[in-house]
Amino acid sequence: MTTQRDALLARLRETDHMPVLIVGGGINGAGTFRDLSLQGVDCLLVERDDFCSGASRAPSRMIHGGLKYLETAEFRLVRESAQERNRLLANAPHYVHPLEMVIPIHTWFGGMRAAIAKLFRRPARVSQRGALLVKLGLTIYDIYGALNRVMPRHRMIRRGDVLSEIPDLDPDIRVAASYYDAWITSPERLTVELLLDGMAENDGSLALNHIAFDGIEDGRARLVDRLSGEVFHIGCDVMVNAAGAWIDRVNEGAGTNQRMMGGTKGSHLLLDMPALARTLTGRMLYFEVEGGRICLVSNFMGHVLLGSTDIPIEDPDTAICDDTEVEYLFDAFRRIFPGVPVGREDIFFSYSGVRPLPASDADDPGAVSRDHSMPELPPQGARAFPILSLVGGKWTTFRAFSAEVTDAVLSRLGRTRRARTEDRAIGGGAGLDRRAAGHETLARDIAKAHALSRDRAHVLVRRYGCRAGAIAAELGPEEAFMVHLPDLSRQEISAVIRTELVAHAEDFLFGRSTLFLERPLSHAAVSELAETMAALLDWDDQRRAVELDRIATRYRQFHRIDVTPGSPPHFEGSQP
Ligand SMILES: Cc1cc2nc3c(=O)[nH]c(=O)nc-3n(C[C@H](O)[C@H](O)[C@H](O)COP(=O)(O)OP(=O)(O)OC[C@H]3O[C@@H](n4cnc5c(N)ncnc54)[C@H](O)[C@@H]3O)c2cc1C
Repeated sequence: MTTQRDALLARLRETDHMPVLIVGGGINGAGTFRDLSLQGVDCLLVERDDFCSGASRAPSRMIHGGLKYLETAEFRLVRESAQERNRLLANAPHYVHPLEMVIPIHTWFGGMRAAIAKLFRRPARVSQRGALLVKLGLTIYDIYGALNRVMPRHRMIRRGDVLSEIPDLDPDIRVAASYYDAWITSPERLTVELLLDGMAENDGSLALNHIAFDGIEDGRARLVDRLSGEVFHIGCDVMVNAAGAWIDRVNEGAGTNQRMMGGTKGSHLLLDMPALARTLTGRMLYFEVEGGRICLVSNFMGHVLLGSTDIPIEDPDTAICDDTEVEYLFDAFRRIFPGVPVGREDIFFSYSGVRPLPASDADDPGAVSRDHSMPELPPQGARAFPILSLVGGKWTTFRAFSAEVTDAVLSRLGRTRRARTEDRAIGGGAGLDRRAAGHETLARDIAKAHALSRDRAHVLVRRYGCRAGAIAAELGPEEAFMVHLPDLSRQEISAVIRTELVAHAEDFLFGRSTLFLERPLSHAAVSELAETMAALLDWDDQRRAVELDRIATRYRQFHRIDVTPGSPPHFEGSQP
């Protein structure tokens, strides 16, 4: 099978100049790529790993207005985040859904003095937030979320009512508050869809994974294909450094030593606790731990998602959820669910990422602003083009950040904006009605058109939104389902790897599907996936073994899960 990546590489070989080079295929690089492509600007985006493999793959999966930024008086950020949340609900209804947030509260008046001090930028740490403070914050938050409002306003919930719905919750609470934000089921796929949309809009644009920016040679960017070792030299008019926590390294490669970044690591655990998860269906608990930090716990695809930490880190390549963080998260869990036993044997997945925050001297990492900025490095020596670095930002606000970057690039190219992105649907969100009935109608139509069962059509709509029709068209009458991943077929894998820039088996597993979050995957399941992909992509036995090893190594090294043959998958240090 000739993949889309092979075809794009062939085009790259014939290219020696692009108006814009974007380094980094996380959400900010991908958003900028789509926006510039929409303006008719040809861009080349290179990602050294698979797309969406840095911080963008490791979020708490909240698409949120940033309630906690009210405390630091970052009102611009709250307004922008709330607007962008509402836009994502409309533009990506296949992956972004409303989520009820529940705040358990232990006091009536706590935290007021510290909150007022912080509001006036005096040193203070807000903790023991009481009902009055939370009510005040949520009232203001409702006002910021009013534009394009699609979700209910906040409400206070009596202690007895919340305990009857979530019986394991700490019985010492006085009251709870509920408000609405949103969550994203597949940040990985939405990032890839932005890139595919960009290339569909402008056939002069190219997005390639597994290609690393490796410095400047003779005034041009040196790019290395990490699969084959092939080297490309590409000139550009503007370079966008969207390398997240690696921004300083990329700029160093471009010959400058200005320190911009001061990333902090954040980790999450997925716990296999179906009974507790059921009581959390459709909602996330947003609760305080020691010192006033906020943690969260929710039902993610039938499991309990628990996060996160906030720890300064020097080398972003080493980010894993370490033992200290596991204990910290377990302490947080015990605080909110004091009667529920939890241990390492409950962990079926862990992940960690590095927030691309600006360099800061703040003692408290939580105090560093989550707003974004775009410092520019002017041309220097043989490098005749400027570099714009995308520092900070949230997943939620990527569209607004990308629009700012696009406007800055357009002005440097002497061009003007011709299309806007505020109301533009993304990928499989195009044409999808966000109400449940819309999903139902689409599934019914697809089932009818392609002779599929309604259940199968539903799975496809959940996975691909409106792109499900195109996938269904490739399944054929003899759909061959996997033995160990029974809701996935060989034909579905084939359709995805052919059209979505999949180069490795792990790209499919961790970057185009959510299978790794939906259930613990056994060695048999990942072997079957590698075998199926080997058959589809004509890999020999050696390549198949390498691909399987890459998956097992990623599981072990970055997620601390052992998937060796002969024992069930388990977290490091727990009994299988
Ligand atoms: C623990 C945690 C929880 C979070 N939770 C949320 C949340 O719930 N909601 C929210 O809105 N935001 C959240 N965020 C913030 C959000 O995830 C990030 O701000 C956002 O993903 C940053 O995207 P990015 O594209 O700038 O960086 P990244 O996603 O890190 O992308 C940078 C990319 O550059 C690539 N790269 C590096 N060097 C090179 C090179 N030499 N050549 C080519 N490519 C290179 C990397 O491989 C990487 O893929 C969270 C972040 C973390 C870490």
